[in-house]
Amino acid sequence: MAFYETRTCLCFDDVLLVPKYSEIDSRHNISLSATDVMGRSFDCNGKTFSLPIFASPMDTVVDEKTAVIFANSGVSPILHRYCTEEQQVEMYKNVVRRLDCDSAPVGAAIGAGEFSLNRMINLYEAGCRFFCIDVAHGHHKMSLLAVRTIRHLYPECFIMAGNVATLEAFDALANAGANAVRVGIGGGSVCSTRIVTGHGVPTLQSVIDCAESETDAILVADGGIRNTGDMVKSFAAGADFVMLGSMLSCKDESPGEEKVVDGVKYKNYRGMASVSAQKDWRGKVSVAEGVDSWRPVSGNLNDTIESIKAGIRSGLSYSGCEKLSDFYANSEFIKVSSRSSKENMPHGPGAIFR
Ligand code: IMP
Repeated sequence: MAFYETRTCLCFDDVLLVPKYSEIDSRHNISLSATDVMGRSFDCNGKTFSLPIFASPMDTVVDEKTAVIFANSGVSPILHRYCTEEQQVEMYKNVVRRLDCDSAPVGAAIGAGEFSLNRMINLYEAGCRFFCIDVAHGHHKMSLLAVRTIRHLYPECFIMAGNVATLEAFDALANAGANAVRVGIGGGSVCSTRIVTGHGVPTLQSVIDCAESETDAILVADGGIRNTGDMVKSFAAGADFVMLGSMLSCKDESPGEEKVVDGVKYKNYRGMASVSAQKDWRGKVSVAEGVDSWRPVSGNLNDTIESIKAGIRSGLSYSGCEKLSDFYANSEFIKVSSRSSKENMPHGPGAIFR
């Protein structure tokens, strides 16, 4: 047995950002431009990234209908891979046919195995230029090979890979040719990886560590982001983008099973390695590393995205930053005691928080 490290690793609730002097007249003027954040723009078949937000490639988050809503509101959706190649290509074609001219790019998830190459080529021929090599443990020779192969075959594509938890893994995928790396292992709201396997690193800590990378790959904080405060903390810790699952699920338009209990409509949000997702998509279950959840349906996606934008802008204003791209350099964390979590939440008598 060896201890890799015995340092304390920080999660979102362990830290807060210190408010700073501000000269911002209006929060509306705060720029959330993804191009500014990345320091360059990427052209994915005529589309450029708008907001620094991805919708996760999960079957209870992104389908044809929600992909169009996401992309038209600036959030880049990634079409999940839990379907046949033909279905995914069809989904891609149907989505791009309905997009506004200034919509965000639509990505497609693929696996890292040899069969994924065929899927990727078919998606490429349908016009897709944004691929997400979607693997639970991305620090793996198959993921590295997949990134190198796509980069070699189609140099112009935007390649996202992951997930990883360490700087070493981030750099390995970036040096193989990934434009973006998903950072976070075991932190997702419907993830049971840490319980089942004993492995993981708090997402915030992984972001802090991977932000040390000297490569120019885009850092995507993924897993465990529960509110705009966690997004703001992710950006302050060095994330360029965030990826959202739970926060973009269980809305009026969200895909997934529904049920009504005592007059309240609930929707299902599930991990893609949950028993139910594995049964639906593979017909059998190997190791379940995800769970199902049921939540009351809470509003529509456009309102949700507007309130996410407003929350991030408000967060930046507390650090006196007019641009998300300046935030990493100008924000300051403090570590708080575990008791602060209670004070952080609305806690007055009768307080209702939704
Ligand atoms: P959330 O935003 O906290 O709900 O986390 C979403 C993220 O959880 C996704 O983007 C994936 O990285 C991860 N994820 C999705 N399904 C599973 C699963 O079944 N097990 C572990 N992680 C998952």
